[in-house]
Amino acid sequence: MIQSLLIANRGEIACRVIRTARRLGIRTVAVYSDADAHAMHVRQADEAVHIGPAPARESYLVGERIIAAALATGAQAIHPGYGFLSENADFAQSVLDAGLVWVGPKPASIRAMGLKDAAKARMIAAGVPVTPGYLGEDQSPERLQTEADAIGYPVLIKAVAGGGGKGMRRVDRSEDFAEGLASCRREAASSFGDDRVLIEKYILSPRHIEVQVFGDAHGEVVHLFERDCSLQRRHQKVIEEAPAPGMDKATREAVCAAAVRAAKAVHYEGAGTIEFIADGSDGLRADRVWFMEMNTRLQVEHPVTEMVTGVDLVEWQIRVASGEPLPLRQKDIHLSGHAIEARLYAEDPTRGFLPSIGRIDTFRFSPKQARIDTGVDEGAQISPFYDPMIAKLIVYRDTRSHAIAGLRDTLADGVVGPLVTNSGFLWRLLGHAAFEAGVVDTGLIERNLESLTARPEPSPEALSFAAARLAGTPGDTPWTSRSGLRLGAPPRREVRMVDQFGRAFTAELATPLADAWPIEDAVALDENGERFLVRLERTEGGAGGIASDGAIRAPMPGRVISVDVAAGQAVTKGQKLMVLEAMKMEHALTAPFDGTVAELTVAAGAQVQVEALLARVEKD
Ligand code: ADP
Ligand code: ADP
Ligand code: MG
Repeated sequence: MIQSLLIANRGEIACRVIRTARRLGIRTVAVYSDADAHAMHVRQADEAVHIGPAPARESYLVGERIIAAALATGAQAIHPGYGFLSENADFAQSVLDAGLVWVGPKPASIRAMGLKDAAKARMIAAGVPVTPGYLGEDQSPERLQTEADAIGYPVLIKAVAGGGGKGMRRVDRSEDFAEGLASCRREAASSFGDDRVLIEKYILSPRHIEVQVFGDAHGEVVHLFERDCSLQRRHQKVIEEAPAPGMDKATREAVCAAAVRAAKAVHYEGAGTIEFIADGSDGLRADRVWFMEMNTRLQVEHPVTEMVTGVDLVEWQIRVASGEPLPLRQKDIHLSGHAIEARLYAEDPTRGFLPSIGRIDTFRFSPKQARIDTGVDEGAQISPFYDPMIAKLIVYRDTRSHAIAGLRDTLADGVVGPLVTNSGFLWRLLGHAAFEAGVVDTGLIERNLESLTARPEPSPEALSFAAARLAGTPGDTPWTSRSGLRLGAPPRREVRMVDQFGRAFTAELATPLADAWPIEDAVALDENGERFLVRLERTEGGAGGIASDGAIRAPMPGRVISVDVAAGQAVTKGQKLMVLEAMKMEHALTAPFDGTVAELTVAAGAQVQVEALLARVEKD
């Protein structure tokens, strides 16, 4: 087996790969951009190499730098994770050309599945059922229109080079086709540099069913059953589960066998996923499931498969890349229990899922309740440069309903802030009656968007309760009993709090409670089926973005409301340097150690971007 591995990625997937590599006794090398100098994946790896500035195009997507880092550190192999360079056949080839092991399929397999039209043609030849449609040899608008009319509406126009839910247009009427085509082409050209499209029949009551496959260098291919990823927003997965609800034995066998045929057709090695679209209008049926595309890499949602099969897919990737045969035969791979994953994002569902960037002050989820795959911990930044996923929460239980309940509890008990997350949205979604009944389709979220994203309003009682909990003393936790609140005894004091939507609230508390500085940074409240995350609002004490080199950077975009020191001034550790107002909160930025203010780049009133250098403190 390989002895050392460079992970050409960041965040949770880099940490995920490092975890298994470490268990196998493999030395790990991380790569990082300027924005990730203190990131978890860098801290967890045995070694780390800086590969460039924050934008991915100048760091994580620069193949030569990554290969150079592997050679310089003596890493034998490169694992690409997902996204970034994972499905880039040219990069895979360069890795091999440099004499390194590529933890992934052969470049030819990636190429064969890279473009949706060529992949579908190949699947037809291999006898795999594909979505009815036109593969677009002739790309003239007239021909495409004729084909769409012949397929019958609604149709879906797809960029052949598309991915990540981009470059797709649903068209419902012939007269709208030309416009849909033009806008799809524009997006395809700008996102993928290739404006070719194909047309598919738009499947009504669509369910996204995918099959995990695995091949080795000895020609063996197995499947590890299916996942259902039908809960999507804008064609992007939100909740994934295994097995698929309502899947019967015959349909499962048919779909999994088709997936193995598809992988064998491209001589597949390593972990891959065959995505199918199913017409779920009449339950899942073997004759209503069609090949959609293959993802030639480890998938974001691979953990649910790991939970229900007991297989560590990253371990298999490493073994297979090292030339070993698949660790298990098909007959020895079994399905048991039910797993559900939710993607926790730094985004605001009440504002069109706008990404929320900034510092994570509090991040607490119980590993007893769920598997938490993450690349951040308290103090980490969600930056505007990368995907704002904070964590994947994966719950495994004996039955589907227990798994749903377990994941809802995990979300309700967990705290993450102050930045806004989709946690409440996920919690509501998991409680939706149709989802609980296993009646899912890819339009469920969109149809229920309003109720799923409505802004919650906590009651005054709930707020007092939260305030008491926040300011409570150990031994006296009003959380456990409302009657334990001693609100009657004067004198009283106001406590200011903010919720995960950035709104401020006040609640009155008896001073003995308010004076005990918080034992909790934030609490989650459940009230009338709603969930709130409430934090104490503090004007002091925010650590800010303090680097060990003394650079004081803005932890989030905001306004400098006061500067309390001057350039050249001596400061002591913890001394307030300035106050930044961001996300409706005040954050005091303090000196990381005793020293001198060597640099001061802002004055009161300045608007600053996240990560902007505000000051630098030099050790004496
Ligand atoms: P999955 O089925 O695993 O969700 P996606 O196609 O949505 O597959 O992509 C998986 C991940 O890869 C995404 O979460 C995203 O971070 C990354 N990704 C996908 N497409 C792109 C792209 N075009 N550019 C950069 N990253 C991408
Ligand atoms: P991407 O490469 O962006 O992941 P896919 O071809 O996998 O593109 O499609 C993404 C999603 O779009 C699917 O999961 C499904 O929800 C929807 N979709 C794709 N093809 C169809 C179709 N023919 N009919 C209905 N929905 C579809
Ligand atoms: Mg897809």
